[in-house]
Formats: sequence, C-alpha cells, structure tokens
Amino acid sequence: MSIELRGIHKTFGAFVALDRIDLEIADGELVALLGLSGSGKTTLLRIIAGLENPSGGTVQFFGHDARSLSVRDRKIGFVFQHYALFRHMTVFENVAFALRVLPRRLRPPESTIKAKVHELLQLVQLDFLADRHPSELSGGQRQRVALARTLAAEPKILLLDEPFGSLDARVRQELRQWLRRLHEQLRITCVFVTHDQDEALELADRVVVMNGGKIEQIGTPQEVYHNPRNAFVASFLGTVNLFHGRIEDGRVFIGDTRLEITSANRHARDGRAMLYVRPHLLEIDRSPRGISSFPATVRNVNPAGPQVRVELTAEWGDRLHADIDHERFHKLGIQPGSKVFLRPKESHVFIYQI
Ligand code: ATP
Repeated sequence: MSIELRGIHKTFGAFVALDRIDLEIADGELVALLGLSGSGKTTLLRIIAGLENPSGGTVQFFGHDARSLSVRDRKIGFVFQHYALFRHMTVFENVAFALRVLPRRLRPPESTIKAKVHELLQLVQLDFLADRHPSELSGGQRQRVALARTLAAEPKILLLDEPFGSLDARVRQELRQWLRRLHEQLRITCVFVTHDQDEALELADRVVVMNGGKIEQIGTPQEVYHNPRNAFVASFLGTVNLFHGRIEDGRVFIGDTRLEITSANRHARDGRAMLYVRPHLLEIDRSPRGISSFPATVRNVNPAGPQVRVELTAEWGDRLHADIDHERFHKLGIQPGSKVFLRPKESHVFIYQI
C-alpha cells in the first residue's frame, strides 16, 4: 500500500473540513478525489503532502507513519493548477532546476542532468521546445513542463491539484488522455483533485466521491457511475432524471404508473422514494409498451451531438430528458408537441428511500 489514511479529521476553528476519512491507495494507482467546491479535496491532498497537519488520524506511506518521515523522505511531487515556472529560465532549465538544487552529494554530473532532462521532455513530448521560455508556451504546454519538472525529482507519489483547471475544455480533454498514457508508462502512484466528473471517470482507476468533508463512495469509475451508493453520488456523476415515487407492497410507482422493477428494489421498504434514471436509459415510444410506460410531451429536440437530446414534460408536469440515437430519432419522427410514452429501462433505475 502506498498511502493509508485512517480516521483523518480536520477542523478550522469550529468548522469540520474533513470528517474521519479512511482511504487506502495502492502502489501505482491513479486515484481521483472528486467533489464540489468546498468538499475538502484540497485539504485532504495537502494533508497527504504534509503541507497541512490533520487534527486527528494517521497518514502512512509505504507502511511508515508520515510523522516519522521528513518531507524529502516522503518523495512526493506536487503539481498545482497554476504552477509557477521560472519565467527567466528556458524549459530545459526549468526541468533541470529540480536536479541542480540537490545537495552536492546527491546531484548528478552535468552530462547526466542533460540526458535526464531531455528524457523527461521527450516523455511529456516537449523536447522540441527545450530552448523556449514559459511565456512562449501555451497553457497546456506549461503544465506539461511543470509535470516534467516535478518528475525530475523522481517522486514515489504524485499529487495533482486541478492540474488542468485553468485550461480550456479541448486542451483539458487532450491532456487527460495524455496523463493517462503517461501514467500507464510510469506506473507512479497518483492522486489528483478535480471537480470535473468526466475527468475523474475517464482518467482514474478509482474515484473517491467527496461531499461536505466526508467520503460518499469509493469505487472504480464503472462502480460509482452504474452503482451509486446514494442519491448524492447518482446525481453528481452525470445527468439524471429525478422522479418522486413511492413503494407499495414492494412495487414501485411514479404517479399511477407502476414500474416493472424487480432487481433494483429488493431491499426497499414501503414509503416515499426518489427514483433516478439516466437520460440514455429512458426509452421513447409512440405508443405504450408494457405497464412501465407513461405519457409525456416533447418540448424540444437537439440533434447536434453524438446522440439526440429530447426534452420532455411528463403528464404530471416534471421536466425530463432522454438521449436517443439518431436512427431511433428519425424512426420516431418526433418534434416539439409530439405525444410519446417513456419507459425507464428496468435494471438501471436507482431508488433511494426518503
Ligand atoms: P475547491 O474545489 O473549491 O478547491 P475543495 O473541495 O478543495 O474546494 P477545500 O479547499 O479542501 O475544498 O476546503 C474545504 C473547506 O475547508 C472549505 O469550506 C474551506 O472554506 C475550508 N478551509 C480550507 N482551508 C481553510 C483554512 N485555512 N481556514 C479556514 N477554513 C478553511
């Protein structure tokens, strides 16, 4: 185990920023801390880095209590959202800096420094820009130089705090894929903070969903997306349609419509319930299909994308949306005002009792 956090608690005055966090991160894992602003992600990352002391709990690195390790022994690299590169130094010199500041007995000879810097710049695919200054680079290139500079110190653990936060959507997307490939190559333990669900789901081996200083769920992207433990995780990870329903004799109802759900409500008690259905799991038909169908009216359609987004109003007034493929859209021939029937696909309805 690379990192083991036990009962981490952090208060600022009376405010509880982290509430008994337990988390284990395996060697070579890429873990995302995902949550809304203020959920405690950065505080947790700073505690792992040793930049902040927890009010309670323990941090272990490779089986050793963090308190017994100096910052240098922790071998942690940190990349921030705005990583200040040295403006007066070239890209090459910026990366070499981490090696040149080593104590004399640890500092490699100049020829080794040169070879290593070029190797790192090749790794981040920027060797051709070695002689440029940071002001002559794009934001994405600057972050890659920042990462190369951090990697030069050979960290055993890499911590990234919203590393692509200040970049535009397209560059973020590219850098995500690039970081994933880099991680596959290096297999270094990485923990990164993000508030971007897509980034976490695409990049991480495991996602830690945080809310109000607590962990709501830890799991693979597939687990947290397809089996969200609670309503917060279901609605935070991707778009959902929300239904106010009820359970009677183990049967699930929305309004007068009884849903044919058997698997999802195995443990459900009778009473009020919230039902969550992802837009691509809401089927549209022109006539009722099975007892789970309920009437709705199309309000708007947006075919500009890989799927067609259809906005609807259920007969009881709730606003919903469904994502369907283009072929199905043309077959249905729907437009604003069309009367249709909706049907949630059985096994993917999340039910939370209230
Ligand atoms: P963001 O995405 O906005 O950076 P976050 O999830 O990283 O948010 P943190 O920065 O960890 O959240 O902050 C968690 C909570 O702790 C916030 O409510 C914040 O105001 C509070 N907090 C953080 N640092 C301090 C501090 N030094 N003093 C007082 N409160 C703090």
